[in-house]
Amino acid sequence: MELTKTDFIQYLNCPESLWLLKNRPDDYPNGEFSLFLQKLINEGYEVEEQAQKLFPDAHKLPEFGSPQDTLRAFEEESTTFFQPAFVTKNGVFARVDVLQHLSNNTWHIYEVKSSTSVKTDKKHNHLKDACFQKYVLEQNGLNVSKVSIIHLNKNYVRQGDIIPEKLFSITDVTEQIRELYSDVSIEIEKAIQFINHKEINTSSCSCSLNTRANHCDSFALFNSDVPELSIYEIGNVRANKIKELRDKGIVQIAEIPDNFKLNERQKLQLNSIKQGKPIIANERISKVLDSLVFPLHFIDYETYASAVPKLNGIGPHQHIPFQVSIHTMQEDGSISHFEYLADSLELPHKMVEFMFQSSGNVGTFVSWHKSFEMARNKDMYNWVSKYKHYLEYMNANMFDLEDIFKLDYVDYRFNGSTSIKKVLPVLLPELSYDELDVQNGTMALDLWGRMVLDSDFKEDKQKVREKLLEYCKLDTWAMVELFKLLVKRYE
Ligand code: SF4
Repeated sequence: MELTKTDFIQYLNCPESLWLLKNRPDDYPNGEFSLFLQKLINEGYEVEEQAQKLFPDAHKLPEFGSPQDTLRAFEEESTTFFQPAFVTKNGVFARVDVLQHLSNNTWHIYEVKSSTSVKTDKKHNHLKDACFQKYVLEQNGLNVSKVSIIHLNKNYVRQGDIIPEKLFSITDVTEQIRELYSDVSIEIEKAIQFINHKEINTSSCSCSLNTRANHCDSFALFNSDVPELSIYEIGNVRANKIKELRDKGIVQIAEIPDNFKLNERQKLQLNSIKQGKPIIANERISKVLDSLVFPLHFIDYETYASAVPKLNGIGPHQHIPFQVSIHTMQEDGSISHFEYLADSLELPHKMVEFMFQSSGNVGTFVSWHKSFEMARNKDMYNWVSKYKHYLEYMNANMFDLEDIFKLDYVDYRFNGSTSIKKVLPVLLPELSYDELDVQNGTMALDLWGRMVLDSDFKEDKQKVREKLLEYCKLDTWAMVELFKLLVKRYE
């Protein structure tokens, strides 16, 4: 069975999930992140295209070229090759981003990454990726003497045409690779053996001792004994707590004894489950809501971001707001709605002007998870300096409605989360995102990005605009309705 670098990365994160993908693909769930992953893949192509400009004389192998194509290309005059493919006798396959033949008959591997640094964390370890490439080349008899990572330069700001020499930084990682190489080679061989097992134990997996953030979409398949409202749903729970509970044979939150050490929010969640109802700090909520100054502007942005900046004044991965929805509530309860959706990718001058005309410098702005909106406002200070005072006012008067659901309104049916996507279906099931074609920010970004940037975009643009407007409007309308629901409790 073949092992690619992508497979190996998955193996390092979780051997069981790779085994499932390779051996029982029909049981392997297509996760909700597939759209996000597709965006990353497309972004990778774009970054690679720019990185290739650093090597104008290189020989480009055909897309999806085979190891035989590589051997043929090596007979050419060129010393630098894009995307040469190699495979070892036991099926380990590598396609190298850039490979350079040095004058001393050794080879220099360049790995191209869309990040702004060399990552070495558990989920993305660029050094192990590069070791994998070196392993495959060396198994093919090539002596790799140098390894570099080409990644985006975090300080780059586009001005005019992209300048690849400025867009990228090249980090020599030869020494780090030398230190890691023998361990990673052993891991590659273990991975090959593992995926070739006929069967593995699918009655549990190592994530039974890990927090929900580490679980993949196959968790249920490997842990069919885990019930609903399990200990994995405890908000912000740490792995040591999961282990402690599993060691005691506890899998359901309701089974946790009252004297088990949890933080304040987790205790509220436990009480909510035991009492079968939400735990609500009425006085605290009414005090906070009373302090808000009318009019209230419920606000939400949608943003576009790309690895290679597409506008002047923008850096890699920087968010550009392209849409805003504002529901403004006056003290008498009357509500107006303002919405803006850009027709093209541009700095948000017109959008901010529209916002200022709609809301003005008055009242309180209300968002959900305000750090996101506030960070966008800070970016916009620089781009739209004429409205700096307005954006500063907004940040100084921003209330986070999510905060109420951290300690003051805790319902076990939120499953330990304070995301509006978890709170809304419980408190206002009639306001569902399920019926919408656009259901989250990633979908909005992807759809809008394709609509304004892809010349082959085939969908009806008017209908797409309507879908995007509907989604963003629901985000702010949901906050209005949640606010009204909270206020109603005290009338
Ligand atoms: S839940 Fe964790 S251990 Fe289980 S298959 Fe997924 S990533 Fe692997």
